[in-house]
Amino acid sequence: MLQIFSDTGIVEGELQPLVNWHNNTQEVLDAAREGPGEQGRPHYLGPGLEKKRDDLYYTNGFNALLSDDIALDRSLKDIRHPKCKTKLYSAKLPTVSIVIPFFEEHWTTLLRTVVSVVKHSPRHLLKEIILVDDGSTIKDFLKDPLDNWLKEHVPIAKVIRLPSRVGLIVARQEGAKAATADTIVVLDSHCEVMVNWLPPLLDPIVVNYRTAVCPLIDVINKDTFAYSPQDNGARGAFDWRLYYKRLPLTDKDNNLLPEPFENPIMNGGLFAISRKFFWELGGYDPGLAIWGGEQYDLSFKIWQCGGRMLDAPCSRVGHVFRGAPKGRPSVKGDFLSKNYKRVAVVWMDEYAEALYRRNPHLREVDAGDVSRELEIRERLQCKSFKWYLENVAPDLVKRYPPVEPPDYANGTIKSVASPTLCLDNGSKEYGPIIIHTLKMAVCDNNKVEQKWIFSFTNTKLIQDQYPHFPKSRDTL
Ligand code: UDP
Ligand code: MN
Repeated sequence: MLQIFSDTGIVEGELQPLVNWHNNTQEVLDAAREGPGEQGRPHYLGPGLEKKRDDLYYTNGFNALLSDDIALDRSLKDIRHPKCKTKLYSAKLPTVSIVIPFFEEHWTTLLRTVVSVVKHSPRHLLKEIILVDDGSTIKDFLKDPLDNWLKEHVPIAKVIRLPSRVGLIVARQEGAKAATADTIVVLDSHCEVMVNWLPPLLDPIVVNYRTAVCPLIDVINKDTFAYSPQDNGARGAFDWRLYYKRLPLTDKDNNLLPEPFENPIMNGGLFAISRKFFWELGGYDPGLAIWGGEQYDLSFKIWQCGGRMLDAPCSRVGHVFRGAPKGRPSVKGDFLSKNYKRVAVVWMDEYAEALYRRNPHLREVDAGDVSRELEIRERLQCKSFKWYLENVAPDLVKRYPPVEPPDYANGTIKSVASPTLCLDNGSKEYGPIIIHTLKMAVCDNNKVEQKWIFSFTNTKLIQDQYPHFPKSRDTL
């Protein structure tokens, strides 16, 4: 099986000596750094810059002016699980092509992504950094100045330019086509990676090349650029509107932390995968337009077609979770519904019905030609969606059942002491209880404010906050 990792000649699954991959010199130098945003601390702009700040905020959805104050190679406090510092990884790891699509990205956030990757990756593993310009038109610095800067400072980086905007999915795919290393690592264009982020992503791929590994994603605050954890990790999931959800780690996962744990759905755009496996799967469905649904496409395909997906808590990557950028070219049409429909018809079998019941308009949406995807599914003898749910995320259907059980109860809630008084929500809005308007009021059968539904979903919401709340209808 030598051809899998042909760059390095690593043999899949071969027992290897384990070594410490930390760059100790770099870590000592970083610990001594001071200045704006150093150690991942929040930074604040001086007075008089409000207009400039607001203009740049408007087009980027984050405080881009403040980003310009912070060194491209700033230091970050090591916030990993303490055991990560001493964890050892295979002595030989595969080479990496980093793929970063960007659309109208800000100069310093884009370059900081590139610089942090170079700074924190072992030089001999980093074969190339492929930036994919997804048809940006409004920022001239993303053209020649970017090429020139990279030529001078990061010669292993290059830019592929797409003639017009195709969206992040096809842009990633174009980057992956140009990749030549044994593995592909995809990042967003406003990220920063943390010390020793790469070996934890690559090590599980050496054991089994049909593996995708995701880092733990941290938050780079969009106003101050402070670097902080989102949480200690969770398993990705979805509800039946295909909203991304998170499930807790299993007890076994928790006990084994910071070992990698199985993840049903990747969190979005940050992952590592062997190049061979990515292309065996046909990459992303190229019929997915612009943005959205691609994490389901790839996650379902990886699991159903004989692969596995892990989260590696010792690999951490910060991401600027931004607000919606404004004033940039927008795309017409409901591309998201079409993307979801494609994912549903290709991978979800009879469970697609659960989506259509909640989003009836999806029934009418034209998925377009999915023959390429169905052919891949057939050729790889991929398993059913039922198999995926039962084996990869058995707790998903308990929390998000495809068919919700009937309401446990509905009607009015009367006071036992004063039966003429009823619980009154104080609002006609259908939705969560509004605590500050909640009151006891004279019972009135016609008032919607006094109609209560005790549904499956409500119970789950309450259970999240009150773990001792009865878990089934019988004990209510
Ligand atoms: N992107 C792109 N083309 C698009 C939209 C986004 O290349 O049409 C890039 C974007 O620059 C970023 C990545 O794809 O590197 C993810 O997009 P974004 O950050 O807007 O998504 P979010 O992280 O907010 O979900
Ligand atoms: Mn992003």
